[in-house]
Amino acid sequence: MILLYLETVLLLGIVIVLIAYPLLQTRRSAVAANTGETEELLLRRDRLYSELRELEFDYRVGKVPPEDYQELRRQLENDAARVLQAIDVEVKEIDDEIEREVRHLREMSTTCPSCGATLTANARFCAACGAALKVAARR
Ligand SMILES: [Zn+2]
Repeated sequence: MILLYLETVLLLGIVIVLIAYPLLQTRRSAVAANTGETEELLLRRDRLYSELRELEFDYRVGKVPPEDYQELRRQLENDAARVLQAIDVEVKEIDDEIEREVRHLREMSTTCPSCGATLTANARFCAACGAALKVAARR
């Protein structure tokens, strides 16, 4: 009888993992996609910085005339400013995603304030002690 009970629990565990796994995967890939974009932006920023250094050098050794230098420098600085702005946006998106993730995990693992039992998401009453729960406060 106990063995049957254990098997049921084990099976239930497997089913939960199978259902939850794809959900976790999609959440994780959202962060991964963001970090990929950020990496791309960081590479672009580094390229622009080295182009600026090169331009500076070429100007100093007289390979670039002053009027071209001014124009090229302005363009590169504008590009760099745009990339830096995009990086800020990306970093903020990643921060938000992580914050959502943490909030989500916190909601998933709420415990009963009176008995400490682990509660299911959006539970109105504790299954262990029957205490009424403030659902709105946990959102
Ligand atoms: Zn309780």
